[in-house]
Amino acid sequence: MASHPFDRYAAFTDLAALKEASSQPLRKCVRVNTLKCSVEAFKNWAEERGWKLTPVPWTAEGFFVERFVGQERSCPTKLAALGRDLRHLLGHFYMQEAASMLPVSLLDPQPGEVVLDLCAAPGSKTTQMAAALTPGSSPASKQGEAVQESGIVLANDMQEKRLRVLNDALQRTGAANVIIVEKVGQWFSRHMTERFDRVLCDAPCTAQGTLRKDPTALNYSSDDGIRKAAGLQFQLLEAAIHATKVGGRIVYSTCTLTPEENEAIIFSVLQRFGDCLEVLDPRKDGRMENGKWKMENAIEDSLKVQKYLQNENNYQLSIINFPFLRIWPQTYDTEGFFCAALRKVKRTKEPERMEIIKRTAQPLLRSRKAELARLFADLYGTDFLTEGDELIERGQQVLLTTHDASALPLPLAEYATGVPYAKNVGNGRYRITNEIVSLRGGMAEKQVMELSEGELSALLAGKDIPCSMALKGDTVLRFRGIAIGLGLAKEGLLLNRLPRWVVKNASVQPGIFAPERPRT
Ligand code: SAM
Repeated sequence: MASHPFDRYAAFTDLAALKEASSQPLRKCVRVNTLKCSVEAFKNWAEERGWKLTPVPWTAEGFFVERFVGQERSCPTKLAALGRDLRHLLGHFYMQEAASMLPVSLLDPQPGEVVLDLCAAPGSKTTQMAAALTPGSSPASKQGEAVQESGIVLANDMQEKRLRVLNDALQRTGAANVIIVEKVGQWFSRHMTERFDRVLCDAPCTAQGTLRKDPTALNYSSDDGIRKAAGLQFQLLEAAIHATKVGGRIVYSTCTLTPEENEAIIFSVLQRFGDCLEVLDPRKDGRMENGKWKMENAIEDSLKVQKYLQNENNYQLSIINFPFLRIWPQTYDTEGFFCAALRKVKRTKEPERMEIIKRTAQPLLRSRKAELARLFADLYGTDFLTEGDELIERGQQVLLTTHDASALPLPLAEYATGVPYAKNVGNGRYRITNEIVSLRGGMAEKQVMELSEGELSALLAGKDIPCSMALKGDTVLRFRGIAIGLGLAKEGLLLNRLPRWVVKNASVQPGIFAPERPRT
């Protein structure tokens, strides 16, 4: 009988359990996007819908979600896809596999830092970082209050098609502190040495760990495929190490199971960079500790592989006993994953002189910014801006970013930055965008329509609805405090201006929303 690509793991794990777990569908898992929604607000939302939440042990914003036929008012007989839930469409939570939240938890980016996401698309980890870098980010629970953003992500990927998906994800989640660039990751080795406080290298890999969602996942596991992937991974991790400042942190991760692409890559860089690197122990990192998480299992599982690699290859390392995290799919009932954290303790290469390039999107002149702010303050009672914000212009679009992100000196042109704030519609006229309303609509005091459940359902079904004659022009729509988007009020009729993807994907059976919970 032809051998299965997993058979080689018999010495490291229970093969039958690995194969059985890999044949099971994944549990549904989401991460709350604290740029738009507090964890508390999400939990209340879930409770009203009868969803059962189980926390992801390593990420405070992560939850496994179980839903039951008959419990949701919207779906008495069958469940609509979780992706069609209103809060998902508005970017309040992000569908992300639990194991894939681990690298950013381990990276632990802090407000004020500059972080490189070397292989960023489609962006689950970039959006996670963008929120982590924003202090006190939970505007949904306090929409309307100033939220000072700080900390910058430089999100890189070499595939333009995937960058578009990344950009959409950033706009939907309201991540204004991210600059997207398009380079091969190896470029950072030679051009941005020691520029970043933390670097994530979430490397392309043979993806064996994704078998639970992709039945073709094992197609890349030929010896040649594994060898090629490992060669690229070493180069990318090397670039990540050079790009990190001395004292900074590097996290390496893959969603595959092969020792060659995981432990062996870390061994090779440790061999290459010797005493310039230190392996970090997640057990000693306060944020990673959680009594409920049996992290030891993942560490033990990697140690078994490390012993095997040492016997096979005789690495020149003084110790081979590192606390890497190897996640077999059956251990925590997730995808398969690997993750290791390093600290750079010494310089690995002299930093080069950086040729700064003029940023493609320039900040608006102060007078134009003030003019725009006045226009929106007159219309909505707010300019939707908070401390630390910057407005930049690209073509007809004005985008919201942070002052720090717009001022970051860069030796390369950016692909995209910021969340659409306003559109120049000619003759000096600007209109506010759906993106900014769904991020900051709670700040509006005028030109607001509070929707009833019926009105919201009609809008989500693509209909126009009657409105007060007092409303004129672009109108901020809110439902139970949640900023939904825009409508255009004209003589008592509210024309539907909600984003197309929201209207197209929302599940709109009558009675979609549970009644408001009684206030105590
Ligand atoms: N971090 C992403 C996330 O969480 O959504 C997933 C990244 S995926 C595992 C690997 C990415 O690496 C792909 O988007 C691929 O386009 C990119 N990639 C492949 N080779 C690369 C290279 N040489 N330099 C930069 N990115 C590369």
